[in-house]
Amino acid sequence: MPELPEVETVRRGLTPAMEGALLVRAELRRADLRFPFPADFSALVSGRRILSLGRRAKYLLIDLEDGNVIIAHLGMSGSFRVEEGAGPETPGDFHHPRGKDEKHDHVVFHLLSAKGPARVIYNDPRRFGFMDITNRDTLASHVFFRDLGEEPTGNVLDASYLAQRFAGKAQPLKSALLDQKNIAGLGNIYVCEALWRAGLSPMRAAGTLVDAKGKPKKALVLLTEAIRSVIADAIAAGGSSLRDHIQTDGTLGYFQHSFSVYDRAGEPCRTPGCGGTVSRAVQAGRSTFHCPKCQK
Ligand SMILES: [Zn+2]
Repeated sequence: MPELPEVETVRRGLTPAMEGALLVRAELRRADLRFPFPADFSALVSGRRILSLGRRAKYLLIDLEDGNVIIAHLGMSGSFRVEEGAGPETPGDFHHPRGKDEKHDHVVFHLLSAKGPARVIYNDPRRFGFMDITNRDTLASHVFFRDLGEEPTGNVLDASYLAQRFAGKAQPLKSALLDQKNIAGLGNIYVCEALWRAGLSPMRAAGTLVDAKGKPKKALVLLTEAIRSVIADAIAAGGSSLRDHIQTDGTLGYFQHSFSVYDRAGEPCRTPGCGGTVSRAVQAGRSTFHCPKCQK
């Protein structure tokens, strides 16, 4: 499943083709993905200019000039590709050739910009992705967004914020970090990696990182830094590109080659001088990878 760094990579990959372009027509090739498209989706977005591409948690946000926002979620296997040039009947200059089966192309955004016509195509073999439309003014109260915590990429995510959320909690750190009401868009891979970087056990109670006055202990400051740095590193590497996910330009990201604990059960811990072995456990139905020797 694409995690936040992949979605951010997709956003950055699509921005040059979409930002400022006229969305001439949204072509829906089916009535639904994971959910039905809103009945008037195509009519609402067609003929509008795209102001900007944003992201909230793992949702891509396409802001239109009339104040509407297209919300797109990649689900398990969704991806976008950009085709530039006139169109299939006039084979153009395909900058981003892809091997994916076109029968899974479900949405085509036909664009026109100063660079000429282009198509942004949404492909999703498993159809767990979805699209919706709402207004920018009511976005924060939309059912997808109203309960979300802070972004792991923003300055608001600091140790004091997490101390407020974790104070008194017996909940394991792993679960507290995966709770989207605490941190929006942080997923399994990056929680495992951040806990390893911070030297903290995923099983430890979240409340143990907060002092009696409700202030963050040093370990929580280090964990907050680890979360921000692991996400920043993954974005810089272009996402982890596990399984079905491929970047919008068709190239694979490289962060997967630098996982320190995720998917490395039985392999040596990479903490200098540790000598421990990465183990796999199951917490709340999800695989947790950690080094029992150096993560306390
Ligand atoms: Zn270790």
